[in-house]
Amino acid sequence: MAAAAQFNLLGLELQELTGIVEKLGQPPYRARQLFRAIYRERRRELAEVSTLPRALREALASEGYEVRQPQVDRKFTSSDGTIRYLMSFADGQSVETVWMPEGDGGEEGEEEPAAARARRSPRDFSRATICVSSQVGCAVNCQFCLTALLGVQRNLSAGEIVGQVLAVLNDRAVEVERERINLVFMGQGEPFLNYENFMAAVRLLVEAVGIPEARMTVSTAGIVPRIAEFGREPVRPHLAISLNASNDRQRSEIMPINRKWNLEALLEAARRFPLRARERLTFEYVLLEGVNDGQQDARDVVRLLNGIRAKVNLIALNPGPDIPFSTPEDARVREFQQVVVRAGIPTFIRRPRGRDIFAACGQLKRTLETQPLVELG
Ligand code: SAH
Repeated sequence: MAAAAQFNLLGLELQELTGIVEKLGQPPYRARQLFRAIYRERRRELAEVSTLPRALREALASEGYEVRQPQVDRKFTSSDGTIRYLMSFADGQSVETVWMPEGDGGEEGEEEPAAARARRSPRDFSRATICVSSQVGCAVNCQFCLTALLGVQRNLSAGEIVGQVLAVLNDRAVEVERERINLVFMGQGEPFLNYENFMAAVRLLVEAVGIPEARMTVSTAGIVPRIAEFGREPVRPHLAISLNASNDRQRSEIMPINRKWNLEALLEAARRFPLRARERLTFEYVLLEGVNDGQQDARDVVRLLNGIRAKVNLIALNPGPDIPFSTPEDARVREFQQVVVRAGIPTFIRRPRGRDIFAACGQLKRTLETQPLVELG
């Protein structure tokens, strides 16, 4: 039997739901109930929306409407508690979404003592971070990132971006009102090359799902015109910029996007970015051994960031097959950190999360094997 074309209500704003409900001759409060059921109660299908009369649910279904979250195809659990979800959408395309109990360690820059970590059960978290994808694959082609190897398949819709969060919140049985959830838009894809859908998703996550914008961070490889536009948004996450190099020659080599928007253009946009009270602009810096990890590089980074209320997150390269770089020693990473810290810029070393299951920064490429194999579910 050929299924009729289905239209997913997950992804629509209240106004759009109101239009649909009114067409079926129903009052606007029915749309508010539906809105709440999809995003706050995180119902997985229309039949579960018990606040609506059955007749209305049936009318919606016969019009071809459905409520459908992405499907969790696989789930890989790391020894550090991180979970990498492989999720697929109606057309069979898939992305990854990562759950990190106790944050990503980069925002706070602190490591939880191993003893405390050992005492906790996986369900027992006081805060957690979800890393969300914005595109299937990525077009930016950073030379140290595994996602680049996928190329870009397509943009995700707003509903697909929000849906990843809902699916993880359901899987982890999170109570959004009570538990502290951070979102980072740092999964597969370049959010600023899917700007409209990304921002529509942010608004739904803030207004409908109930996660404050102050707990969200988006990272860009440096799509300069979008940085200015993003600064004008009334509702927006914090901004992180993937700097990754201390000069143009180096940056163009490892991030070809630098040939389009170079460091001068990027830092000009960063300088103009309207920060809120006490807000800092985050700069991420992936350390590649012998490439960009020297003391002189650190001094050059300090000079580049001069005049910007910045903080720096250092990420020692997460290795991967076909990535032609190596990871510097911890001591070298700390030396780099010291130079930047001494210049007065708060600088944190991001603790790698879920490296053993290919869940760490730059490792998302729908890997189905894990080394060592630690797979659940
Ligand atoms: N496309 C956006 C969002 C991805 S965020 C961006 O580039 O910012 C992913 C972060 O991980 C970026 O800061 C990126 O520079 C970093 N990264 C990519 N590959 C990595 C790797 N192999 N090891 C460590 N960090 C990596």
